[in-house]
Amino acid sequence: MSEATFDVLVAGAGAAGMAAALAASDRGLEVVVVEAKETYRLGSNTAMSTSMVPAGGSHWQRSAGVDDSPERFYADIMAKTKGAADPVVAGALTGVAPDLVTWMADRVGVPLELVTDFQYPGHSADRCHAVPDRAGRTLHRHLLDEAARRPEVTLIAPMRLTAVDHDGSQVVSARLETPDGSSEEVVPRIVVLATNGFGARPDLVGRYIPEIKSALYHGGDGSSGDALAIGASLGADVGYLDAYQGHGSVASPHGILVTWATVMHGAVLVNTVGKRFGDETVGYSEYAVPVLKQPGGMAWVVLDDRIDRACRVFKDYQDLVEANAIRWSANAAELAGVIGLPAAEFEATLATARAAATGDSGDPFGRTFWEEPLRSPLGSIKVTGALFHTQGGLCVDEHARVLRNGSPIPGLCAAGGAAVGISGHGAAGYLAGNGLLSALGLGYLAGRHAANED
Ligand SMILES: Cc1cc2nc3c(=O)[nH]c(=O)nc-3n(C[C@H](O)[C@H](O)[C@H](O)COP(=O)(O)OP(=O)(O)OC[C@H]3O[C@@H](n4cnc5c(N)ncnc54)[C@H](O)[C@@H]3O)c2cc1C
Repeated sequence: MSEATFDVLVAGAGAAGMAAALAASDRGLEVVVVEAKETYRLGSNTAMSTSMVPAGGSHWQRSAGVDDSPERFYADIMAKTKGAADPVVAGALTGVAPDLVTWMADRVGVPLELVTDFQYPGHSADRCHAVPDRAGRTLHRHLLDEAARRPEVTLIAPMRLTAVDHDGSQVVSARLETPDGSSEEVVPRIVVLATNGFGARPDLVGRYIPEIKSALYHGGDGSSGDALAIGASLGADVGYLDAYQGHGSVASPHGILVTWATVMHGAVLVNTVGKRFGDETVGYSEYAVPVLKQPGGMAWVVLDDRIDRACRVFKDYQDLVEANAIRWSANAAELAGVIGLPAAEFEATLATARAAATGDSGDPFGRTFWEEPLRSPLGSIKVTGALFHTQGGLCVDEHARVLRNGSPIPGLCAAGGAAVGISGHGAAGYLAGNGLLSALGLGYLAGRHAANED
């Protein structure tokens, strides 16, 4: 491949990279995807995700009678971020989302369906689209399988993009390295940085997001901040480096996501002294730090049989069941004994939550959304707070073009965690689905831009 010339070089084979590659190849462009990690089929963020892709105004929603639109979705993003989300990127992504999910289903063959059994905090409509087992690796596999069917797309792994040489008007070359240290120069017309963020770099997390630096990292092992380094070498603009997706419930010590659908179906989180410590329905991302602030940095998700049945649609939840991560008891007093909580406090906590859920009294933490009160028998899962991925990165425009001093750098695009997200600052602006929408949406826009069809 020495000095090879082709249309598009994509770095990273996650959702962002594969969407860019497939959208560009739709138009007949020749695409090379390089992927740094051999583990990407299981270890990329995309493979670890729950495959939720939000879109306001999709045909699935119309068929289900859901009233939604890109404008309403945009308003929800702005409400969740208190107006701090990048308006250009948020507008581009909410605008393209209905087209994106249709394209994923019709052109790529991803078996998407509308999630109607619960809503994540901050979404005012049923708008998450997911594969039936709600497993990121299933979504990812469909993207990879479709790429493998297309002669225009070549995927090489392990191979890492380490540098891009640019003369100010075009990409001059890109340097690729294999793990044994050998390197090659290639000459693509367009480079798409789809290398995710810097979650796997404790030094960078400590510098930009100190509040989450001591948390468990539950994200892709290839998120090494390479886009930031390459962007810096080209003088690219960066933004929102303090933004991230946290999560308040990763089973410990199993390291398996406990879906926040548990909470939205009625579960509560209590600490090791048997007390709740907030309104769980504000959002899972901003709940990571409160969980970490509890004694031992731990909490228990408390649920019941109805919630258990409702969550079995998630592959991650099935994994929890198979791992025996859920402890069941006939009632609160017995459960307290099993998991080592002070029984009186725990029973009082659940009684107060029950009164709030039935409307008999207000919730001390202000929680107003209770699908139903908890009923014995009760189950519990020990959890900790985690960092899932970073949401800041290279500034891009509505075509996913990387910006320098506010103007596009010709031939350079970024998508997904490599680029700025739409979550404002910190953890609280993250709305479920912001990650994959930024990845798939910006990737799709980058691929279309590569073919000059923007
Ligand atoms: C448990 C969990 C659940 C989640 N659920 C959801 C969800 O339901 N919905 C949602 O929207 N988001 C979700 N997210 C977030 C979502 O997974 C990410 O936002 C999204 O997958 C990012 O996609 P990406 O393509 O940018 O990154 P990735 O999928 O991580 O892909 C980046 C790839 O680039 C490779 N790479 C890195 N550097 C280089 C280099 N220099 N050269 C070549 N390759 C390189 C990496 O090895 C990696 O394979 C979840 C995250 C986690 C951890």
